Amino acid sequence: MMTNSSRINVLFLASEADPLIKVGGLADVAGSLPHALMKVSSSSTQLPAELDVRLVIPFHPAIRRDLYPSQQIAEYKVHSVDNEIFVKAYSLELDGLPVYLIGGAPIEQESGVYSSNLESDGYKYVFFSQAVLNLVKRLDWKPDIVHANDWHTSAAVYSLALNRPTNPFFRQTSSLLTIHNLPYLGAMTSSALESFELPPAENTSLPSWAVHMALPLGLLTADAIVAVSPGYAKEIMTDEFGTGLQTFLRAHSNKISGILNGLDTGKWDPTTDIELVTNFSYANLQARSANKAFLQNEMGLESNPNTPMLAMVTRMDPQKGVDLAVDSLRSTFQSTNTPPLQAIFLGTGNPVLEQAVRRLELDYPYQVRAEITYNEKLSRQIYAGADMLLMPSRYEPCGLSQMIAMHYGCLPIARATGGLSDTIQDPTNTDQSTGFLFKRPTSEALSDAIQRALAIFVFNPQGWHAMQIRGMQQDFSWDRSALEYIKQYKLLLDKRIAHRSII
Ligand code: ADP
Repeated sequence: MMTNSSRINVLFLASEADPLIKVGGLADVAGSLPHALMKVSSSSTQLPAELDVRLVIPFHPAIRRDLYPSQQIAEYKVHSVDNEIFVKAYSLELDGLPVYLIGGAPIEQESGVYSSNLESDGYKYVFFSQAVLNLVKRLDWKPDIVHANDWHTSAAVYSLALNRPTNPFFRQTSSLLTIHNLPYLGAMTSSALESFELPPAENTSLPSWAVHMALPLGLLTADAIVAVSPGYAKEIMTDEFGTGLQTFLRAHSNKISGILNGLDTGKWDPTTDIELVTNFSYANLQARSANKAFLQNEMGLESNPNTPMLAMVTRMDPQKGVDLAVDSLRSTFQSTNTPPLQAIFLGTGNPVLEQAVRRLELDYPYQVRAEITYNEKLSRQIYAGADMLLMPSRYEPCGLSQMIAMHYGCLPIARATGGLSDTIQDPTNTDQSTGFLFKRPTSEALSDAIQRALAIFVFNPQGWHAMQIRGMQQDFSWDRSALEYIKQYKLLLDKRIAHRSII
């Protein structure tokens, strides 16, 4: 039985959600997917009823109360072994989406979403997870699906599984856990889990080092696991990408699937983007060239439409292969057979990588620009003006930059991993090509891919334009992802049984 004959209740938990508060890509997902679920469910034939989706995030002090006024809806206590912790819950609506904000001392200690103190972060998010389950009970709003994301909200999945057998309120609730980035396990959540009476799992298929960490416990007890791309769903079961959980994940492969994240095509649209000097679409691609000229001018690079311009827009993190890009460009510049080219790096993060990029600019001042900053406006101008986006990621659960780049007519040169393989078609495999993929995580493999791209750019401009147009026409909308999630919800509803064991 559904909780209400005309509604299926989905509680969507995340640590951050755009536009309320954003640190990384998870905020984009939590800001877009619940809306897309609501929209798509009203026209979907997959489900027997419409979804009632509600988003819940912590009331981080950094959330602007003046921009997002909310109303207090509940006051209660969450029990821990040391004390009772006071909670105040608030609600607001974002474009028709009900949103709950959870306040309480563990959340108010830090202003931002994440802190460098992993233990206090662990306590904050386990408290949040418990407070959320408490809230829906208080509101007497029974979730059919608890949809958690990453380690921060995994304790809610585990707590649900522990409570479900004895708590009639949650007996019919299923759980789905989306993995955005597996290596972040919530490694310092052990004492917080104990504090909130969520003991380590016993006699489980988890490796012993993982039985007291939030994400592994969530993976163990979730009714379904979704990785953010089909490619990543397969990779997390391999030794290379499984973070030590690959054997466990392989044993649970029947509940793992992959769903590509979408791109907010309202926010990222070259036909309307106000940061571009000229808007363009695949139907008037020639208008794009003004953006390249503008970018070359802004960056103090030679203004020449025929000079290939490569770019990287990224967090400076070893995951992203910035070092591979620097090494590869260095050897490309040294090679006598290569046409002149330009490269722009936009990113901040790891000081060693920032330094490597700055050094490349010093060595090649006429060709390279190192913009060591976070600048969304410049990122848009780069996607619209550069010819190629480098994404030599060591792993990439989904990746947004390559989708934005393709949408803006900038062809990706990327490592064939995770979501990059799923979103980019390579010319050697298909005549539907939209970019260039390489396999090994080495600067040599990246250089080969760059050479393949340069050959088409220089000698086959028509082929290049055809690739740009194909990339711009790809459907990366959230509607497609939402439909896939709705199929997963449907499977969970079909499988729902009254009594469940947790292991
Ligand atoms: P991740 O979430 O792992 O950092 P994604 O490719 O999924 O990588 O998303 C990165 C997003 O952050 C993209 O929208 C990209 O444009 C943006 N971004 C990364 N670095 C910068 C920067 N320095 N300035 C502006 N935008 C950036």
